[in-house]
Amino acid sequence: MSKPNVLFVSAELTPVAKVGGLADVAAALPKALNRTGQANARLVLPLYDVIQKLSLATEEVLAALEVITPQGKETVRVLMTNIDGNTVYLAEHERFSQDGVYMQKQQKTHPFAETQRFLFFSQVVVALIAALPDFHPDVVHCHDWHTGLVPVLLQLAYGNKRPATVFTIHNLAMQGRWNREEILGALGLTPDAAATFSRVDEQGSLSFIEQGILGADVVNTVSRTYAEEILTPEYGAGMEHALQERTADLYGIVNGIDTEHFNPETDVAIPSQYTAANAVQIKRRNKMALQREFSLPETPARPLFGFVGRLTDQKGMELILDAFPDFLRDEKAQLIILGTGDPAIEEATARLCQAYPNAAGAKITFDAALAQHIYAGADFFLMPSKFEPCGLGQQIALRYGAVPVVRSTGGLVDTVPDYGENPHDGLGFRFTEFTSAALTRTIEKAIALFTTQPDAYTTLQKRGMEQDLSWNHSAPKYATLYTKALTKRG
Ligand code: ADP
Repeated sequence: MSKPNVLFVSAELTPVAKVGGLADVAAALPKALNRTGQANARLVLPLYDVIQKLSLATEEVLAALEVITPQGKETVRVLMTNIDGNTVYLAEHERFSQDGVYMQKQQKTHPFAETQRFLFFSQVVVALIAALPDFHPDVVHCHDWHTGLVPVLLQLAYGNKRPATVFTIHNLAMQGRWNREEILGALGLTPDAAATFSRVDEQGSLSFIEQGILGADVVNTVSRTYAEEILTPEYGAGMEHALQERTADLYGIVNGIDTEHFNPETDVAIPSQYTAANAVQIKRRNKMALQREFSLPETPARPLFGFVGRLTDQKGMELILDAFPDFLRDEKAQLIILGTGDPAIEEATARLCQAYPNAAGAKITFDAALAQHIYAGADFFLMPSKFEPCGLGQQIALRYGAVPVVRSTGGLVDTVPDYGENPHDGLGFRFTEFTSAALTRTIEKAIALFTTQPDAYTTLQKRGMEQDLSWNHSAPKYATLYTKALTKRG
């Protein structure tokens, strides 16, 4: 088969339902596959309230798709729309139209409401495969725990007439667990079919992500290094045994970024546009605008470190909060943080900024335009993650000439060769131990380069901006994965 029809099943999509990197990949990868003629890719998403509010132009594809549940027949309306060049099916049902993309922040919601929602979405996808009038998927490409049940449900519903399945792990830490009996009850399966869902943990829970790992024809994650790391207990998040069973079908493909969207030459979200050739002069303007925006002294000579991301354990915020006070107190560096997440980390971040109002600023919010101001204005971009499946932040930072300072883990290893080890090919600063002392030493090196060797810093910055970070390298690897999955299914 030369050009497979591929249906992407995702909980997130940039820009209409973005929470993290999953949304960016779900938007950019199908677009790259379509543009380069390697697949006919479309997507399906729940029609969340946040998408409904956008009043997109849609066309009704199915007025009443029937989904059988033990409670009876439910009907779902399926709409089709175009989002930034992608053809997207939207499943309309009251279960999807409350509480945004994810629900867990709502105190009153049932603890399993989220898993129930995606269980139902998985059933919708299975019914949709056979009902779409003009698109017959050869491959169903599932992403993260939300869609982990889809491969098994497709097998149960269609046997060897099913499409081939690919399951991509973007974040192994989010697993989607629910009591096995309740899941089987919600699916209304016969005991024979129920036996397919054999894996449970000590609490009798079944994990959606584990089902995806065990059930898909082919499994991959979003960098080569992370694909190796997750086979170990340290990074496997309890899934290492399931993953070890699948090593023959497990791949690592590093994410690209949408280089049309993330382009400092055309980005209207930033104050002044620039290229690698004029970054030195123009980024200075963006830096001063950013300093103004965060009420910091407008000092171009002071190295400015930016952070954009989820304020969670994963992202290594504890290291930043520990390492930076010394640099801020001595006014050796400025720090700007944009993010939301764990309330304790949000508060600690706010406290740090109160303690050093002349050197640190933070906005505890999600703001895509402000994120661009930081990428365009910062000299360095911090990503000291505990684990990082791929990471997009450091790649966007490279594109905008903010030199990454990262921990040697997962995709950060694959995308940021260390300047210390390879002064001629390095793209940023890396450290290995997950300690604030290791981060401190690395920040000292970064500051030293910036302040004492400005030409070397500029060369490093320019090299990062000139990398091809597009999907050109990785989209063909996904096309190969689809072929493998089709062969595997037979
Ligand atoms: P993850 O998917 O683990 O959250 P990634 O680095 O892969 O991390 O992707 C995060 C994406 O979300 C990046 O595009 C980053 O700029 C964006 N982002 C994260 N937090 C915010 C925020 N508070 N405001 C704006 N953009 C954000």
